[in-house]
Amino acid sequence: MPTLNFKSRKIHHHTQNQTRNQSNVQPQKPKQPAKQAQPQKPNRGQKHSGPPHRDGKPHSSQQERGGGRIPQQFADKRPEPPKIGKQLRVYALGGLEEVGRNCTVLECGNDIIIIDLGLMFPEENMPGIDYIINDISSLRGKEKNIRGIIISHGHYDHIGGVPHLLGKLGNPPVYTAPLTAGILKKRQEEFKDGGILNIQLVKSDKKIQMGRNFAFEPFHINHNISDAFGAAIHTPYGTLIFTGDFKFDYSPENDEPADLRRIAMFGSSKILALFSDSTDATSPGHQISEKIVGEELERIIQNAKGRLIVGTFSSLLTRIQQLINSAEKTGRHVLLEGRSMNNNVEIARNLGYMKIKPGTLIEDKDLKRLPPEKVMVICTGAQGESNAVLMRIANREHRYLSVEKDDTIIFSSSVIPGNERTVQHLKDSLVRQGAKIVHYANMDVHSGGHAKQEDLKLMIRLTQPKYFIPVHGNRFMLEAHKDLAISVGIPEQNVFIADNGQVMEFDHRGGHLTKDYVPTEHIMVDGLGVGDVSHTVLRERRQMADEGMFVVIITLEQRDGSLIGSPDIISRGFVYMKESRELIEQARTKVKKILKEQNPKVPAFEELIKTKIRHEIGQFLFSKTRRRPMVLPVIIEV
Ligand SMILES: [Zn+2]
Ligand SMILES: [Zn+2]
Repeated sequence: MPTLNFKSRKIHHHTQNQTRNQSNVQPQKPKQPAKQAQPQKPNRGQKHSGPPHRDGKPHSSQQERGGGRIPQQFADKRPEPPKIGKQLRVYALGGLEEVGRNCTVLECGNDIIIIDLGLMFPEENMPGIDYIINDISSLRGKEKNIRGIIISHGHYDHIGGVPHLLGKLGNPPVYTAPLTAGILKKRQEEFKDGGILNIQLVKSDKKIQMGRNFAFEPFHINHNISDAFGAAIHTPYGTLIFTGDFKFDYSPENDEPADLRRIAMFGSSKILALFSDSTDATSPGHQISEKIVGEELERIIQNAKGRLIVGTFSSLLTRIQQLINSAEKTGRHVLLEGRSMNNNVEIARNLGYMKIKPGTLIEDKDLKRLPPEKVMVICTGAQGESNAVLMRIANREHRYLSVEKDDTIIFSSSVIPGNERTVQHLKDSLVRQGAKIVHYANMDVHSGGHAKQEDLKLMIRLTQPKYFIPVHGNRFMLEAHKDLAISVGIPEQNVFIADNGQVMEFDHRGGHLTKDYVPTEHIMVDGLGVGDVSHTVLRERRQMADEGMFVVIITLEQRDGSLIGSPDIISRGFVYMKESRELIEQARTKVKKILKEQNPKVPAFEELIKTKIRHEIGQFLFSKTRRRPMVLPVIIEV
């Protein structure tokens, strides 16, 4: 067992004798008017003078809020509602309408904490976009209040935004576990303006005060990367539990089982709300153990005859370890291909999270001397990512790897929605070149690592939250998770399905989902530029890709704005110039006519001309061809 491993430890601060209202684990409560008796946990189990709800419980605060004013007899019996800004506001900047770009913000008083700061890979209709990160404009001007960013584990949908946004957030400390810290540090090196990474390592038995209103306790869960944790956040109004990506594994590899005892302990002290991973909420049963995954993998590998090429994610370190184990057992040497793959394995190995026998790993020059059945290549690209190794191999663009007859190529992932077509093309291309394809969905980030229905129910049963908020996933996944919660006794009105940016509010009367939204635009990262690609640019790229472009270059006399020569027309991806000489000629005549009709003395003459050309030439081309290329007027003044 690696010494630095983030694992469950002895529980120090919870003993049987302590009551649930132990004041030493609660952060400071907001100031209340002095005369009012302040119950410790007013939101549940409190004596209530109002009429009982039909299920025997007091009215939920949600209903009261929905009903407008609080009736007088309640108002004088309960603590005054906190002033605006003193409520606990919770919203997700991403991850509630997609798998990816996870980020949740908690605000209370002058304290803000952020949980995860991920990225999302683009959809197929976003040409030229590398990935999408979170819109942090809701935090602008409040940077000094950010007490820290908690990063639950090292997957890109949780860490990917860090180098892009850390500086913009005022470089708050980053609370995370050692392996995640290693990955973050390495990634930071790749960015010039990545901000200042101030890592605070967390341990599962240590509570961290974050500002006046928050305290954070990590707890160990399982996932398919080591060092993943869930976060218990103590607030003035109760404890929130964020599961992060999780599964329960009673026999994990290189890891400890999830700390069920601790999770149950949180549950016994009354949980205000549970925010739980919905990625696999539509799958029945229990998630299989990593041990089973390893065994199944080994069977596939044993049956492969020639060379093995496995496409996976570079951050799927548990899976990479299993592949290496299987290779060692079946007498294969392993070539790790791809920079991120090598980086991550090196980090994990240095920290003791991965064990690789000496002699197992080889370099590319060793490939020639080894027979194919002694080789396994582990590389990136199972999702058809355009720059990843597998794609380069398929396109015969790889420096030294190409498909050989009898190669077996394992796709280690079920396809992320939106990537289906690309992955199918990739497979076609590989099969055509003689490879055999094995698709093994259990090895995936998006299935193998996440709790299924029975596990999700267990999490709810253990934590016994008052409110339940399904997170991480598309809407249908969240809805499926909601049904599960209701089936294990959470009242329907206490389940909040929020959109990205939709604010939930909690105070001592309870919680509710507001109609208040913060911005959650897609911030697109293109090459090394962040956010300079807007939806307009994207629309233009799509238009160019689909319909081509039509450039009109006109040269004007600077003095009087008169046309010099004839307009030049360049078209790309639209029509063959030669075959459409007539069309081009007609367009040219139209451009001349537009110029003649305008008075060059009017203000903003150039803009006017450009707009007219775009509009009228666009119309004209559409009427002739039924296509809408992008019309690009260029004016040169001489
Ligand atoms: Zn994950
Ligand atoms: Zn995730």
